Amino acid sequence: MEELRGKTLVELEALVQRAGFQGYRARQIHQWLYRRDARSFDEMSNIPADLRSWLASQYQIGGVKIEEILRDADGAQKILFGLNDGLRVEGVLMPKEHRWTLCISSQAGCSLDCRFCLTGKIKLRRNLTAAEIIDQVQSVRREILKNQPITNLVFMGMGEPLLNMDNLIPALRLLTAPDAVGIPTRRITVSTAGIIPGIRALAAARTGVNLAVSLGAPNDKTRSALMPINKKYPLAELIKACREFPLENRRHITFEYTLLKDVNDSEEDLRRLIQLVSSIRCKINLLCFNEDDRLPFKASPPETVERFRSHLDAKGFNVAVRYSMGRGIKGACGQLAANYL
Ligand code: SF4
Repeated sequence: MEELRGKTLVELEALVQRAGFQGYRARQIHQWLYRRDARSFDEMSNIPADLRSWLASQYQIGGVKIEEILRDADGAQKILFGLNDGLRVEGVLMPKEHRWTLCISSQAGCSLDCRFCLTGKIKLRRNLTAAEIIDQVQSVRREILKNQPITNLVFMGMGEPLLNMDNLIPALRLLTAPDAVGIPTRRITVSTAGIIPGIRALAAARTGVNLAVSLGAPNDKTRSALMPINKKYPLAELIKACREFPLENRRHITFEYTLLKDVNDSEEDLRRLIQLVSSIRCKINLLCFNEDDRLPFKASPPETVERFRSHLDAKGFNVAVRYSMGRGIKGACGQLAANYL
């Protein structure tokens, strides 16, 4: 059955009128779907019973269910979302100073096979619909946060968001619209492994959200070994697309660099990294790798991480070290869902 969530106000108006009801009902339904996070038509108390039962005969809402929550001592919560067809995807909710960052998925599995990522081992099952993307946010807001707002939203869970543009863009429009979910654009970040046509399409769609790019390595040889997508979209072209990505005032592109021992953490790698991104208004996140027996890498030692951080800082870069939250609860992308899929 078709999902009602994911429809815009204009689409809701058309379907309500087609069914013989007054157009203003669409705005009420829109509010129930996006402001009040309704999980069933029965909750829509100001909608006439005959319209509710017509909606229930044609549409469903609530295509995502929270099936499992693992809580770590550091406050992170790993969430397993069940989809209507039995597939599962992951999210992570991370607290920081009374704020909440939610990481969500855009696909079930992933086709890109980045070597340092467990999701890449799962293989792509399918794209998530716009409704399923939005529903991850709403189910967390409603069921875990008890209607507290989500401060930041990042697309860094399972899947490559820029290979699911047909659903990502409508979802972003509803997530950011003030009369829908209403998360400010500056608080949303879409992360890519480097899909150049997707970066350009995201720029053209003018959603206003932030872009993060997973760099992996500062040269094509190592990057292609770590992230096979680099063979199709090599570094020079990727950096060019990043340079052309429109940035509002005081915004930047975030480059994610996962430090892997003896793979991408040499002096030469650091020098090349600086060279590569120096022409772009950017922030660099140095990610400490979350080791897993199923992946053939070790995390760079703390002194190496600090060497990268201090050099980048001295060169004037906005740099941060990110320790992945939820290490005790399979916090890295794909670690929980990999047990199921
Ligand atoms: S890192 Fe992202 S793009 Fe790469 S395999 Fe994992 S989920 Fe896919």
